[in-house]
Amino acid sequence: MSADSGANFPRIPASFVDPASRSAELARQERLHALSEEDRDLVRLAGDPLFGRWLEQITAVGGCAHPVYLSGTTITRDASTGEVVSSYSTADEPGERLAVRCRNRRATVCAPCSRLHAGDTFHLVRSGLVGGKSVPDAVRGRPRLFVTLTAPGFGPVHHTADGQRCRPRRDGPVCEHGRPLGCGQVHVDGDPLVGLPLCADCYDYVGHVLWHAHAGRLWDRFTTGVRRHLATAAEIPRSKLGRHVVVSFAKVAEYQRRAAVHFHAVVRLDGPAGPGDLPPAWATGELLAEAVRSAAAAASIRVPESHAFGTELLGMGRELDVRPIRAFGKDEGLSDDAVAAYVAKYVTKGAADTAMGLDHAVSGLDDIRAAPVPGHVRALMGTCWRLGGLAELEHLRLRAWAHTLGFRGHVLTKSRHYSTTYAALRAERADHQRHTGEEVGHLDTVTDAAWRYVGSGHTPGAALLAAGIAEDLATNSEIAREELAWSGEG
Ligand SMILES: [Zn+2]
Ligand SMILES: [Zn+2]
Ligand SMILES: [Zn+2]
Repeated sequence: MSADSGANFPRIPASFVDPASRSAELARQERLHALSEEDRDLVRLAGDPLFGRWLEQITAVGGCAHPVYLSGTTITRDASTGEVVSSYSTADEPGERLAVRCRNRRATVCAPCSRLHAGDTFHLVRSGLVGGKSVPDAVRGRPRLFVTLTAPGFGPVHHTADGQRCRPRRDGPVCEHGRPLGCGQVHVDGDPLVGLPLCADCYDYVGHVLWHAHAGRLWDRFTTGVRRHLATAAEIPRSKLGRHVVVSFAKVAEYQRRAAVHFHAVVRLDGPAGPGDLPPAWATGELLAEAVRSAAAAASIRVPESHAFGTELLGMGRELDVRPIRAFGKDEGLSDDAVAAYVAKYVTKGAADTAMGLDHAVSGLDDIRAAPVPGHVRALMGTCWRLGGLAELEHLRLRAWAHTLGFRGHVLTKSRHYSTTYAALRAERADHQRHTGEEVGHLDTVTDAAWRYVGSGHTPGAALLAAGIAEDLATNSEIAREELAWSGEG
């Protein structure tokens, strides 16, 4: 048996064996040039002596598609002696830098970070429903509703009508532009016509965009209305309601097929001390549902007179869905877990993912004309741009928000008492990672940190590797989740 079979050495491909030979080297160069840009970059990366450490970094950030690179040091000292307890510096890292997550919540921008964000959102919404993450489990027994608030109609659009014809009309009348007011087709899911106006000239694009621009304030009016209704019902002055009951909200905004935003919200009643406190007996789920209905109907905003369109009175749409969230087994309503999963799903979808807008702000009408979105969406963006030029609407910043069709709101918003925060969830995760690492036995320590931004993003080869890592991690967590589900059921 040959002792020097090279078991401990990396296997070298035949083509690399004789670099001294000119022809072999030329052949190698030729092969390298025949490779794609990604492959050449992969060869370069793999040749780096710190490649292993780089892989560890990218795995640690979950295969983030656009990592941010930082350079710096963190030194922890014993508070009394000044002795260094632990220190970390990027000096020994590949490129003397450390990758951190981009934390983008959008799946189209960074799939692994959006998955993480969806997970956080799930926990954030779920803990407000079933407890956990510093929220007491008792919230499960509280009056809780799942509410969907819609935008009003801005003109007839094609819709899927459960296998029925879209908008059947016997007499076949036409609008002033000569277009039929009815549609005899049966649209199925995925039909590109669904959500489009029957007549783009009849459609109230101005109303639609102005509604989006005021949707956040309308929501505020709605929540104020809910509290006012409860106060009136209990014969308590509005200003004193908080001494009896706390109303908590968590809401997400979602674009419908007609490119109008609607809101899904969890509404919960607690006692005056918040999630740990029982509300008074009069504060029932039925009363809360009544308050939601009356507040949705009453919420309105008057947009001041404009030369372009006169006045607009904006309110919520008549379509309103109010459902109790059930805590246990056979109660009527939606289950808390289903609600949390439903809400989390929408948070990772931005306007761009549903073809209802773009990832980035637009620079003008030419930009809008070239946008790869349906004509209806382009028309809404164009309306934003034109209205954004009016002095009386300047405060709505419609041009800056044309890519989201005038809607400036956050995807997820919640009231202070609802549950935990994204920051708290991130801190918990960082803490967990620290503790699974090296334990520091000292109690009193001082930490000095100096960090700076040194860049972001991947080279083509690195992007390929990161995507592979992200995919592996996603598959592993899916398998783990399935195993957990099986063991839980068993
Ligand atoms: Zn990322
Ligand atoms: Zn139709
Ligand atoms: Zn028309």
